[in-house]
Amino acid sequence: MKIIITALIIFFMVVEVSCAPGRYPQSSLVRKAYKTNLKKMRAGYDRFIPVHLPLDSLGVKQWTAPSPNFDIRTPDLVIIHYTEENSCPQALYTLTNPNTSRKVSANYLICKDGTVFKLVDERYRAWQAGISRWGNFNNINSISMGIELDNTGQEPFSEKQIASLSVLLQTIKTRYHIPVGNFIGHADVAPTRRADPGTYFPWEELSTKGFGYWRDSLLPALPADFDYKTALKLIGYDIRDTTAAIVAFKRHFIQNDTTSELTDYDKQVLYDIFLKYDQ
Ligand SMILES: [Zn+2]
Repeated sequence: MKIIITALIIFFMVVEVSCAPGRYPQSSLVRKAYKTNLKKMRAGYDRFIPVHLPLDSLGVKQWTAPSPNFDIRTPDLVIIHYTEENSCPQALYTLTNPNTSRKVSANYLICKDGTVFKLVDERYRAWQAGISRWGNFNNINSISMGIELDNTGQEPFSEKQIASLSVLLQTIKTRYHIPVGNFIGHADVAPTRRADPGTYFPWEELSTKGFGYWRDSLLPALPADFDYKTALKLIGYDIRDTTAAIVAFKRHFIQNDTTSELTDYDKQVLYDIFLKYDQ
């Protein structure tokens, strides 16, 4: 009898596992690693002892009753950076150094030759975006993945680097179902502090692969009541400093003019991008 019950339990476990939606559909290796990691995280949850916490101010009793029904938080945004350093080894040193006052990191670093360094496990919160905001979210590190590109900020990105980035972005996009418009730059989420990935970054090329939006060549006519501030805000920009938001927008979507003035053309591009986010 005991054997039959055990066999039934195993059968149902197998059925449940095989029916579970695949969070990592692209690779059985990744799927296996995911399950192993999850198992480690859940270790001990099968023999928990409820802990009686101190009463809160209302005198309501609180108990800890750990549930194994959870998985790993997943990112909704991908933030692209440039390192603003002179070489990949130098950037690697900065991004892995725990002994500086400016402790920074990213989930990945990509060198000019296309080499990809995984710095912070995707499940963890890398210190990459700093004080930042996108839409109603201001804890960007908690909801995003950060990718650093070895680049001084004053030079084009290498083909090999962008090729590696494209492969990495495709993996991340598939794994976490990240929407097209959620591939953005550091300057987009921190317009008063940052300029990266800068005007050399090939947003147009990446948009053709489904990573971020780009302006159409045929732009829509501007409505008479077009409000540029609202459009910037609805795209996601923090408009508390409108000038900084305009420059960040132009750095990303215009690129060859980053003045703080919005020309009629810029406004048309803004409306075009707004429509894409508004879908
Ligand atoms: Zn950055």
